[in-house]
Parts: sequence; structure tokens; C-alpha cells
Amino acid sequence: MHESQTLFSAYLIVGLFGALVGSFLNVCIYRLPRHESIAWPGSHCPSCSQAIAWYDNVPIVSYLLLAGRCRHCAIRIPYQYPLVEALNALGYVWIAWFFGMTWSAATYGILYSALLVVAGTDLSHKIIPNAITFPGIILGLLSAATILPLGFFNGLLGMLVGGGILWLLAWASPYLFGKEGMGGGDIKLLAMIGAFLGWKPALMTIMVGSFLGSLIGVGLIAAKVIRREDYIPFGPFLVCGALVSLFFGQSLLDWYQGLLAG
Ligand SMILES: [Zn+2]
Repeated sequence: MHESQTLFSAYLIVGLFGALVGSFLNVCIYRLPRHESIAWPGSHCPSCSQAIAWYDNVPIVSYLLLAGRCRHCAIRIPYQYPLVEALNALGYVWIAWFFGMTWSAATYGILYSALLVVAGTDLSHKIIPNAITFPGIILGLLSAATILPLGFFNGLLGMLVGGGILWLLAWASPYLFGKEGMGGGDIKLLAMIGAFLGWKPALMTIMVGSFLGSLIGVGLIAAKVIRREDYIPFGPFLVCGALVSLFFGQSLLDWYQGLLAG
């Protein structure tokens, strides 16, 4: 087979695998905030409780074939389901392309999926599950010590600096801004991100996340979608910040240092 064809097949397999994992992530996003088991029972419609057959559970494809409705009770299936599957598939392909077919890439794939779940549960339930962040912190430190180029010390520093700064902000918010800042979930989320990426990308995650958060927050208030006193989950913005740091962190740092050097 031609080399480019082999590469194409490899990306295709990575993408299909990503979509399958994405299907499992939907289960996590739905069940973790409800404190339900993610292993049992099998997939069923939340409306009519009918078990979902395997042919109705094929990522993205089934949603399209069923025109976004349950086969039994015809209730709408939220568009988030195919969206998460597609995002996880595209993310895996992008990571494989960006980092090559390496163990590092596999590790970043796990981080990426964890971030998708966190964004999903924070948007839907304002919850960042410990079931994701605690194992994530440990896995991040283990990977930093073994697989990832950053090394254990940098991972540990990332966890402490990332989690520590948000902890300080959470502690100081009532004094500085007169209201509660971020929650404990955000602190653990950034500790996890720092453990995987190191302390510089952890700082960048906060900066990019805060920038995006204020930009979109101000936009939503101006468009009268939300009111000034409404709560906006910070997790999804930290997730965006982490992805920017993962993929463009080095380029951003180089560009910034270039600016300083004049
Ligand atoms: Zn149904």
C-alpha cells in the first residue's frame, strides 16, 4: 500500500476509535453528575427507559439515521450526543497528527477526553466530577514521570502552581470582588491540567481561560442572554485554555519572547 494511504487508514482508525470513546464520554457526562454507575445498566433512553440496541448506538451515524429521535418514544436526542462524539473523534485525529502516533499522544488523548467530560458536566450541571479530576491528577503525575517530555518535577509544579493559584483566587474573591469566585472543582481541574502540562502551560491556561471567560461573559450580558449576577461556569473556559496551551503554548511563548526581544 502507498505510504499516504497507510497514514490515512491510521488516522481513520484513530478517528473511529475517538468516536466510540466519545459515545462512552456521553454516558459519563450524563451519569457522573447524577452519581449513577457508568458501567451498569447499559444505554437506555432517559425518557422511555427502553434499552438502546447496538445499531441505534453507533456514534454519529445512528443519530443521523434516527433523525435525532428515540426509535421507541420519538423524544429528541440532545444534539450534544453526536457533538461530543464528533469532537472526540476530531480531537484524537488532531492529536495523532500533531504529536505523531506516540505514547505522549495517547496520554494527551486521555487528557482531552477528560476535559470534554468536564466541559460537558460543568455546562449541564455546574459540576466538575472528582471521579474525573482525582484519577486525572494521579495519571497526569505518573505520565509526567514516565511518558511525557516534561518530567515529574514539572508536572508536580504544574499541579501545585495551577491548583494553588485558583485556590488563592477562590479564597480572596469574597474580599476582592465581594462574591464567591471559582469552586473547588475548578481548583482540582487546573491541578489536573498542570500535572499533565507543567507550570507554564498551567499559568497560560488561567490567562487564556480568564480572557475567553470575560470576553464571552461580557458578550452574553451585552446580548441580554444572561444577567450580570448570573453564574457562568468557568470550567469550559479553563478547558479551552488548556487546549490552547497544549497545542499552541510553545508558539505563543516564542511569539511573546520575540515581542520582548524586539
Ligand atoms: Zn425513548
